Amino acid sequence: MDVRLLEATEDPERVICTAARSDYSSGFVGEQSFAETMSTVDGETTEEKKRTLIGRLLDHGHFGPFEHPQATFGVKGISRSCMAQLTRHRHVSFDVQSMRYVSFDEVDPADVREGAMVVTPPSATDPDWVGRNQSGGAVDDEVVEKRERIFRESVTESVESYQKLLDTGMPPEDARFVLPIGTEVNMVLSMNVRMLMHVADMRAAADSQWEIRHLTESILDHAAEWCPLTFAHYDEQMKGRKNRLAP
Ligand SMILES: Cc1cc2nc3c(=O)[nH]c(=O)nc-3n(C[C@H](O)[C@H](O)[C@H](O)COP(=O)(O)OP(=O)(O)OC[C@H]3O[C@@H](n4cnc5c(N)ncnc54)[C@H](O)[C@@H]3O)c2cc1C
Repeated sequence: MDVRLLEATEDPERVICTAARSDYSSGFVGEQSFAETMSTVDGETTEEKKRTLIGRLLDHGHFGPFEHPQATFGVKGISRSCMAQLTRHRHVSFDVQSMRYVSFDEVDPADVREGAMVVTPPSATDPDWVGRNQSGGAVDDEVVEKRERIFRESVTESVESYQKLLDTGMPPEDARFVLPIGTEVNMVLSMNVRMLMHVADMRAAADSQWEIRHLTESILDHAAEWCPLTFAHYDEQMKGRKNRLAP
């Protein structure tokens, strides 16, 4: 998969701090400088003041100000299974590559056998991979070779059948019914900082499936660059805990 930050609120932590200080200011934040808005917050520099305030907000569960900054991500090549998990989050906005208007008629089934167009789960090729809900443990090479053979044959046959149906003139929106749930999809998604932390609470957790966990970790990497004080605090103090971001 490929995850990119496409667009994001400029200076998100200034927005968060301005919104939070507005709650407790007798003055109007629209009529004063950022320095004035932050004047009563502990810290020598603006950066320190922002770190103080953001840490305090997160520690006290005052999450409203984190709803103002928004980021838009482009995601390439996740499975439709992973997409189904991600799109359960109702405060995230999505645009999903269509299977009505985009048909995979030019994909070579030989490439599908090699891993194109359908995501290959690690358990199909790695004998040591143990899924969280798996009753058994690691398997020997012979078993994993069998798994991989069945998996690759199955997805290749699905794509071949799909293309044969397209050749008969069947609309792509109906021919797609035979494609596997692992079929790759591209999407664009947008969410605010509070929601990003909530998605991370649920989807970067150990009990999430490997693919959405990987996707969420990539999103968190971008978030750490975009909104550094917030996600440094999230990473150090909140990640892996029940933060009640969305009680
Ligand atoms: C490990 C794991 C396994 C899962 N397994 C399954 C499964 O087997 N089957 C399945 O169906 N789902 C499953 N899910 C999905 C899960 O149940 C949620 O639907 C999904 O994670 C969305 O999160 P959310 O409920 O926090 O809602 P979000 O849409 O992310 O909303 C955020 C918050 O807003 C509030 N909210 C939003 N809408 C409403 C509403 N209508 N009413 C009241 N409050 C609302 C809630 O506080 C919610 O927590 C699983 C999730 C995980 C992480």
